[in-house]
Amino acid sequence: MPLLTRALALIAPPFCWACGSGSTAVEPLCRPCRAELRWLGPETVELAGVETWAPVAYEGPARALVRALKFRGAAGLAAPMAAQIVAGAPQHLVDPRAALVPVPLHPVRARRRGFNQAERLATQLARRTGLTVEDCLCRRGHARRQVGLGRSERLAAIAGALELRPGARAPAFVVLVDDVVTTGATLNSCAAALRAAGTRQVWALAYTRTPGR
Ligand SMILES: [Zn+2]
Repeated sequence: MPLLTRALALIAPPFCWACGSGSTAVEPLCRPCRAELRWLGPETVELAGVETWAPVAYEGPARALVRALKFRGAAGLAAPMAAQIVAGAPQHLVDPRAALVPVPLHPVRARRRGFNQAERLATQLARRTGLTVEDCLCRRGHARRQVGLGRSERLAAIAGALELRPGARAPAFVVLVDDVVTTGATLNSCAAALRAAGTRQVWALAYTRTPGR
């Protein structure tokens, strides 16, 4: 194998992240898996008070990509995922006044994983939009297991867990960035922490969201 091909294969393995079949070295998904992605269209949704947009539904191959980004440390995936977000994101969500703020991981999880996948996506979004990344939020307290909690308890557990980093300044306009959005509870508590610190407007961009909301 020529050296360059071998180097490329190390960065982006030439197999599909969803089904494991042969793929090209540049696309993270093979053609059939790409065809299976369910595109959500240009409309934004209001999730727990935050206007949100994501290109694809959280199911099938999109779920596999998110998992690979999160658990297998597939750093090369953040770039194509960010490219898909930028390609379809409504213009007003890429407000030139806004800063990109990654949804923070719990510190214990971040230590174990070694990176925050939302921060990786935000960095790639910044390269494509010219917006800056301001990693100004953090989670406090211990990771409370949410399994076994009721919905309202779960929302409360998340709601109390986010705050501005010590010494950080809240940007006036914020685009929250996450890999996947489901109920919007986390976005809501991020937005609450930011608004309490002076942020005027908060939107959110993600790679996938649960459809039907
Ligand atoms: Zn595939």
